[in-house]
Amino acid sequence: MPYDKPRDIFGMYVFDRRAMRERLPRDIYDTLIASIEVGQKLDASIADMVAAAMKEWALSKGATHYTHWFHPRTDLTAEKHMAFLSADENGLPMESFKGKELVQSEPDASSFPSGGIRSTFEARGYSAWDPTSPAFVVTSRKGGTLCIPSVFISYDGTPLDLKTPLMKSLDAVESRALRLLKLFGNRGLRWAKVTVGAEQEYFLVDGERARKRPDLQFCGRTIIGCQPPKGQQMEDHYFGAIPPRVLAYMEDVERDLYRLGVVITTRHNEAAPCQFEFAPQFSEANLACDQNQLVMETMRKMARRHDLMLLLHEKPFAGLNGSGKHINFSIQDSDGKNVLKPSTNHRKNIQFLTFLSALLLGLSRYSPLLRASIASPGNMHRLGGHEAPPPIMSVYLGNTLATIMERIEQGLPESFPGKSLIDLGLNRLPEIRADNTDRNRTAPIAFTGNKFEFRAPGASQSIAGPLTMILSIWAWGLDQMCSRIEARLGGGDVVDAALEAIRYAAQESRNIRFEGNAYSQEWHDEARRRGLSIANTTPEALALYLVPEHRQLLSDLHVMTDRETSAYYEIRLEQYIKTVEIEMGILHSMVWEGILPALTKQIVLEGQSLSAIEGKINIDTQPWMGFTERLCTLKSGLLTSIEHLDNLRKTIQDKPIEKQAQVLTEEGLPLYEAIRGMCDAAESITAASVWPYPTYRDLLYIS
Ligand code: ADP
Ligand code: MG
Repeated sequence: MPYDKPRDIFGMYVFDRRAMRERLPRDIYDTLIASIEVGQKLDASIADMVAAAMKEWALSKGATHYTHWFHPRTDLTAEKHMAFLSADENGLPMESFKGKELVQSEPDASSFPSGGIRSTFEARGYSAWDPTSPAFVVTSRKGGTLCIPSVFISYDGTPLDLKTPLMKSLDAVESRALRLLKLFGNRGLRWAKVTVGAEQEYFLVDGERARKRPDLQFCGRTIIGCQPPKGQQMEDHYFGAIPPRVLAYMEDVERDLYRLGVVITTRHNEAAPCQFEFAPQFSEANLACDQNQLVMETMRKMARRHDLMLLLHEKPFAGLNGSGKHINFSIQDSDGKNVLKPSTNHRKNIQFLTFLSALLLGLSRYSPLLRASIASPGNMHRLGGHEAPPPIMSVYLGNTLATIMERIEQGLPESFPGKSLIDLGLNRLPEIRADNTDRNRTAPIAFTGNKFEFRAPGASQSIAGPLTMILSIWAWGLDQMCSRIEARLGGGDVVDAALEAIRYAAQESRNIRFEGNAYSQEWHDEARRRGLSIANTTPEALALYLVPEHRQLLSDLHVMTDRETSAYYEIRLEQYIKTVEIEMGILHSMVWEGILPALTKQIVLEGQSLSAIEGKINIDTQPWMGFTERLCTLKSGLLTSIEHLDNLRKTIQDKPIEKQAQVLTEEGLPLYEAIRGMCDAAESITAASVWPYPTYRDLLYIS
């Protein structure tokens, strides 16, 4: 069968530099590229030319519509399609797309979450083109849509999206990174940019079976279901051979993503049955954020075509691993050098340690903001569970670096070991170079050789939220390091001044550095002793946004004003409440529509079989009676608890959101757990022929 070579189709639906070069006059192209590279505002006079070129290009790809494509605070993307086609004064068709339509559009903002920033009577919102992320065409069955990556702001300029704060945090960290690079005498640098690669974990289940479960359809996770006899205990899925049906799906996803200019470098089976992962090649942060949304969207669409259901929920199945999104990040300068890459040059290594220390220093003070940034309804079920980082933010550096930091802290000369070689003791194989970091998969934040990896974000989250917080924290740390170095520098050597600052950061960051097993109870106890914040629930974690010094940091860096931070908190808390309420509503209907009738059927069957044999066969019927009694007990238990849950949902309706969240978390969730326990007990003793829903065993198998 003929197939498209990745190289031939790569970027064919992206209005990238190659497409721009072909269609724009040289001077216009140069102006556009310059404004993209240094993040300058685009000159309005060239917008018409760019729009015309973009329209011609999009039409040649089959597009019939265009849309500003933006990231409201739902963790999804939004689009409102506009036709290129209009009729002129003679009623004749024409295709038009002006500079002003490219640069700005005015979608009704009233139905997006804003946390009270914008009331419906001032519904106007603006979306504005962000030229740092290229436009692209998404094809559909009968055409396509030109998507213009945009930011989304309210009438008075207040951001309503996830992108604007991200871009502000990028400005904050990148300007400070450049300041530090210059302190180290790097000349002629034009910029420093954050690089990001987001690994995406996900589950795939058979579409037909999954659609028989309202919980999977409406909540994206199973809210009931007892453990299958074979889950992941054999550890035979991780990196196993990819099932052919899934591989066919992956290939189709990859092909569509190549066309959109997204490089997927890695695909593999993850630890749980039916769990998989894609990892892209890293790119500039803003683009990585858009690309991760494209990855999720393409995966969703393709799943439908393959009659699969994609689950991006953080914990689709109790008792199995959940899905995360590992955000790998670093900073690269305009010479292409990665600031987190250790070097053989002493001075460069001190520079590397300064960047590293800046993040540690920031985290020692503001790590609760990271905890807040990954608080979501789904992630609450994942964090602290099977092979997922705990809700305590700590950093793992690896043996080598941890030792170096300790030596510097004690005022001893720092010494960098050369890369050690692992002798495999096998003559036939080459020696393998050992990374200077060993793996510790238990830490929420880990240094992994030449980048940091933040492992705690949830699989369904936009990376924009967590990234905004990491970068703000790093920006603060860089500021501190720069100021310390500048204050000490005088006419002396930057290395000595930097070492002094690193020593300070090493001391300050003791609290958040932990090299041991972060999954263990000892670490929880130790973290409590160290006074680290431990927010177990989503409402507790979200409340960390409201801590005055956290708000202050965000407003000092111009990432979010105080009012925006409150609004952001409110949106997240409302999202939590609504999600829990929907889950409880679905639980209610599954119990009434499916589980109680199944129990009734089983009870009737038992009664019928008992009366059929009674007095005819000489057998002890006590166990049979006992069994029927268990079924009846479960049925009454369910009836009572579901009523409690319904009442609870009614009582909170007019309460303030904090109170709603508190009642749902402290009373609602334990009640839900109890109901689930009864449902799962019922499932385990009911005939398959009367059980209404596909079970874990049915779902967790894919050919
Ligand atoms: P891991 O270290 O998790 O086993 P990889 O080496 O495959 O995995 O890297 C994971 C992700 O990190 C990939 O998406 C990769 O592109 C990204 N990555 C690698 N280097 C950098 C960097 N300098 N900045 C940001 N992301 C990076
Ligand atoms: Mg990784």
